[in-house]
Amino acid sequence: MKVPGYFLAEALRNLFKKRATILYPYREVDKIHLPEGFRGKIEFDRSKCIGCQLCFRVCPAKAIKMIEDEKGKRPVFFIYRCIYCGQCAEVCPTKAITLGKAFENIALRKEDLEVR
Ligand code: SF4
Ligand code: SF4
Repeated sequence: MKVPGYFLAEALRNLFKKRATILYPYREVDKIHLPEGFRGKIEFDRSKCIGCQLCFRVCPAKAIKMIEDEKGKRPVFFIYRCIYCGQCAEVCPTKAITLGKAFENIALRKEDLEVR
C-alpha cells in the first residue's frame, strides 16, 4: 500500500514535537491544566439555599433530589448521575451552586458521591 506524502510529512513533523500527553495518574499531575470555565464536581453552599427547587426542575440528568430538612426543602446532588452541564448553577438565584475544579470523582461507596 502506498502511503500518501502528506501522511509521511505529518509523521516526520510529529517525531520532533514535544508530546501532548502526560503521565497520569501517578506522575505529572501538576502539569494538568484546567481551562477557563472548566466544569467539575458540584460544590454546594447550603447556607445560601432558599429551597426554590429551580435546580431540581432544570437538571436534565435527574441528578438532583429535594429533601426536607429543618430549614425546608434542600437539594441533594448525585454526582454519579451528573453530566456537568452546569444548568443548576446557572438558574440558582442565590449562587449556592458552583461547578468546581475537582474531576476525579471516584468512590467505592455510592453515598460518597453525594453532595448535600
Ligand atoms: S450540572 Fe447538570 S446534570 Fe449536574 S446536577 Fe447540575 S443540572 Fe444536573
Ligand atoms: S436553585 Fe439554588 S436556591 Fe434554589 S433550591 Fe437549588 S440550590 Fe437552593
